[in-house]
Amino acid sequence: RAYAEDPDAPHHRRSLLSDAEMETQLYHLAGRRAELPRTTFPEVFEEQVQAGPNRVAASHGTATLTYEELNARANRIAHALLGAGLTAEAPVAVVLDRTLDWLAAAIGVFKAGGVYLPVRPDFPADRIAAQLARSECRLVLAEPGSEDLAHRAVAVAGADAQVLSVPEVLAGDAATTDPGVPVAPEQAAYIYFTSGSTGTPKGALCEHAGMLNHLLMKLEDMGMTGREGEVVTQTASQCFDISLWQFAAPLMAGGSVRIVDTDVLLSVGGFLDELVGNNVTVAQIVPSYLEVVLTHLEQWPRPLGRLRSLSVTGEALKLELVQRWFAAYPDIALVNAYGATEVSDDTMHEILDGLPDRDFVTVGTSRRNINTYIVDENLALVPLGSPGEIAFSGVCVGRGYINDEERTRQAFVADPYRSGTRMYRTGDFGRWLPEGRIEFLGRRDEQVKIRGFRIEIGEIENKLLTFPGVRESAVVIDDGAGEMRNLVAFYSGDGVEPEHLRDFLAGLLPEYMVPTYFHGLQQLPLTENLKVDKKVLKRLAGTL
Ligand code: ADP
Repeated sequence: RAYAEDPDAPHHRRSLLSDAEMETQLYHLAGRRAELPRTTFPEVFEEQVQAGPNRVAASHGTATLTYEELNARANRIAHALLGAGLTAEAPVAVVLDRTLDWLAAAIGVFKAGGVYLPVRPDFPADRIAAQLARSECRLVLAEPGSEDLAHRAVAVAGADAQVLSVPEVLAGDAATTDPGVPVAPEQAAYIYFTSGSTGTPKGALCEHAGMLNHLLMKLEDMGMTGREGEVVTQTASQCFDISLWQFAAPLMAGGSVRIVDTDVLLSVGGFLDELVGNNVTVAQIVPSYLEVVLTHLEQWPRPLGRLRSLSVTGEALKLELVQRWFAAYPDIALVNAYGATEVSDDTMHEILDGLPDRDFVTVGTSRRNINTYIVDENLALVPLGSPGEIAFSGVCVGRGYINDEERTRQAFVADPYRSGTRMYRTGDFGRWLPEGRIEFLGRRDEQVKIRGFRIEIGEIENKLLTFPGVRESAVVIDDGAGEMRNLVAFYSGDGVEPEHLRDFLAGLLPEYMVPTYFHGLQQLPLTENLKVDKKVLKRLAGTL
């Protein structure tokens, strides 16, 4: 009966309970309780360095770094940050392209006890400035290509931040030995900014313990413990939290990271060459890219070398893609990874070794040390099988949005079922299936994904409204014919040219948030309750 106290019980045993019993007994299904060692990523990395200093830790293009070399660089960065006054939990913005220097910089921040705040150098300076200001960031790591931008952002933010040049630090005489800074599991580890519907991005702050639990979950579920020669691709943008495990997990397991550039990914064939040429064993991509890869492979079939697990994340995974994958690669597992930045990345995995026995793909089962709930708007558990909001509690839950109490309060609440624990409400709808899997049913709000990037439609609409002359604005997704979805903006206003709007937004938003099409209308269509009729606009977007 007491299955809640017996989290190791297989899910099918729980399903023997009647629905009523499930309800009265708080049938929230708990992930397996697993040991969470009192350590942190930088400590585990240091252990790996000692265990095998000459193994390859990371590569990019033709450049390679051993564990010892990467560690020496990370240590230099850490010493430079400490020398510049870094204190525990102080954020450090890392404005670098995805290179080996970026890896050293990120690890250096962790080793120095700082909070890693990744920033893409192709982001508009104002956006970076807003992130620096919001997180009260006083230290910035940059490189020659991004130093000007970093200085501009610091100037706009009005912050008295110091900008350190990573190549200069690496070429300098800072010590290459471990700085020996103790980093506690309760300490803040990183901030990722995600789009915000009110117009300002939110900086989700997570702790080392949540990060470590997630990394251990990845190692377990991708079978990366105790295996020699694991190679994981680092493909995700550095402002997307999935980029973190893509480098940190292999480095915790003595494996190596293969950084793959974005233009290589875009060429598809180049990406496949990277997989095969570097003996990649584990890779992760978003569903829209899986579609592109499959279309390519169906035309030009080829073996994928040592690849044994492909993880797909960020958006709903359609059955059709799974069918096409196993038709071509029956021996390479597919993992549907589900989670959110606020809960230290993924909280559920569906591990597929073949076709699922349903006509849809679930997001899987609860994972280690994570409590999974499906609740109504009052946080009451909904009956088994009924739709509700997916919520999580446990070590995965981050601290909240940095310096943003209001939005933190809305999403991070007290877990009514486990006192003293915090719960994160995802805004996703889902329902329990009898054996403890969750079916993902979409979003409660207007958060969407474009190529895996998380976007709040409201943020774009609010920015459009600040353009002189724009009276109304609405943005919809055009699912179009293919898998590549487009953002389409509609607006009303006098004398506003689509090209001006595009340039305006490009100066304020990351490239993936700038709509592909802009259409001016006399007036936006309204529903009966006088809201903008997005259904009409969606249809219109498909025909214009
Ligand atoms: P992460 O970085 O952990 O992948 P983001 O914070 O970028 O996640 O976005 C989280 C949101 O993305 C989720 O709340 C959900 O709406 C969507 N999402 C993530 N993974 C999946 C998945 N496997 N299936 C469906 N939706 C997903």
